[in-house]
Amino acid sequence: MAKGNINVAVENIFPLIKKFLYSDHEIFLRELISNATDATTKLKHLISIGEAKTELGDAKIEISIDKDAKTLTIKDQGLGMTMDEVEKYINQIAFSGAEEFLEKYKDDKNDTGVIGHFGLGFYSAFMVAEKVEIFTKSFKDEPAAHWSCDGSPEYTLVEHDKKDRGTEIVLHIAEDSTEFLEESKIRGLLTKYNRFNQVPIKFGTKKVNDPTHEPKTTKDKDGKEVTEPHRQIEVDDIINNTNPAWTKAPADLNDEDYKNFYRELYPMQFEESLFHIHLNVDYPFNLTGILFFPKLSQNLDMQKDKIQLYQNQVFVTDNVEGIVPDFLQMLKGVIDSPDIPLNVSRSYLQADGAVKKISGYITKKVADKLTSLFKKDRADFEKKWNDIKVIIEYGMLSEDKFFDKAKKFALYPTVADTYFTFDELIEKTKDTQVDKDGNHVILYAANKDAQHSYIQAAKDKGYEVLILDSPIISHLMQKLEGGDAKVKFTRVDADHIDNLIKKDDNVISKLSDEEKEKLKPIIESAVPKETYTVQLEAMDSNASPFMITVPEFMRRMKEMQATGGGGMMGMGNFPDM
Ligand code: ADP
Ligand code: MG
Repeated sequence: MAKGNINVAVENIFPLIKKFLYSDHEIFLRELISNATDATTKLKHLISIGEAKTELGDAKIEISIDKDAKTLTIKDQGLGMTMDEVEKYINQIAFSGAEEFLEKYKDDKNDTGVIGHFGLGFYSAFMVAEKVEIFTKSFKDEPAAHWSCDGSPEYTLVEHDKKDRGTEIVLHIAEDSTEFLEESKIRGLLTKYNRFNQVPIKFGTKKVNDPTHEPKTTKDKDGKEVTEPHRQIEVDDIINNTNPAWTKAPADLNDEDYKNFYRELYPMQFEESLFHIHLNVDYPFNLTGILFFPKLSQNLDMQKDKIQLYQNQVFVTDNVEGIVPDFLQMLKGVIDSPDIPLNVSRSYLQADGAVKKISGYITKKVADKLTSLFKKDRADFEKKWNDIKVIIEYGMLSEDKFFDKAKKFALYPTVADTYFTFDELIEKTKDTQVDKDGNHVILYAANKDAQHSYIQAAKDKGYEVLILDSPIISHLMQKLEGGDAKVKFTRVDADHIDNLIKKDDNVISKLSDEEKEKLKPIIESAVPKETYTVQLEAMDSNASPFMITVPEFMRRMKEMQATGGGGMMGMGNFPDM
């Protein structure tokens, strides 16, 4: 029997593994399945280039629990290891990997974004096991090996009579980790991390109807038709889909396929998505994925359905902060990239060049998709606008490149339910809505009901009034005003609407001059003069005898001061009298 000492710099690495990765013990399973997957795909490759003279068969990975023996076993039919390879890969390399990992993160335990990402590998088994055994037979014509280690730096390595190719990792689950002997727990983990794994994963068996057997229908003695029950057969319970939609070429998928994939990804989500964006790039980085624009819904569960990050079809995290630009984090779907460094801190991610490029690429793809939807079917785009506007407006505010593209398709609805792009709006109103200083004045209301009489008055004059009610629109207006065009957004109850050039001067007053003189000080005493302007019948055909208006800049100042911002202020909506 060969005995040895794992070459340790740290006296005993295993208690450290437990300590540092306490919060994420469950990732051991993903790590071991990743190794089993690697072993299978490596063998497949060796066969394809003629270096391994063997058949792959329907190579799968099998997970099994033995409650009595308190073991959890991960078995693959991959390339296996020889004695020498176990010595090299498990005792030396896997160990140094684990040690390096701990070295890096022992000062970083609070960065929970890191823990749980890849990096620890094989030795993560010791987070849940008091003893780990490896039985492995290489595809090469060499004796099988049996490695065993109880968590101390000592291990044993002996020959074994295992006949079938591949590797079996047996975890003797520790007292404090017996939850990992529960079928439901393991099934949950497999679903979370491995439901799109590249190699089929078997977890137990299930009964299904025998497809080769057609139940016979006969007539009983009373002449009633009776159908015999389906014949049941027991088959492997394969928990994963090895070919998820995002790994396929967009040309091979139709709308129905994307819908099905959305449902597959979020089984609890019954609302369909609005549209999808298939990501597919191999230079200068590798990335595939499908993003979905969700319907905004009241369903709070929707918030839980986040974009999922995968690495080679293995789930990593649904915290994509730093990888996907902030404004797109409300999207749903999957991105899969081997090029995103996972075992690094968030701040590093944000500075990483490759990650920045990925984020830029995603932004561009989203903008391009929106542009093409807008051009292809404007009516449909307008219908979707209410659901997508928050994301787009937020994007326009936060990313200049996105702003430049989105400016061409972002829509501004009027109170009359017409949708204009910014350019269309400018064109439409350029002759009518100009003030004395030559500013182009865009009128808007934030609330159709509360500002009803102001809207009516403006409409009567033939002005276009937008209805802009999203929480970020006021910030976006400032950005739009910042361009070359001398554009001024002005709320419909602002005081200088009357200064617009196209003013109808033939107002027949409902009040006599005398009445006006009496009324004015009364109203003015009721509202703070420094904030409001009282106009008696300035708005012509309006039924109201007077209007109270607010200078636009005043209102904005107030809004900025107000907590939460954005809302309507105090008496801006003075009622009709
Ligand atoms: P990594 O997977 O990043 O290389 P691990 O610690 O997970 O690091 O594994 C170390 C090495 O052990 C692997 O590179 C591989 O050579 C070997 N190994 C682990 N599991 C298996 C397996 N199931 N079949 C064959 N080789 C394996
Ligand atoms: Mg590994």
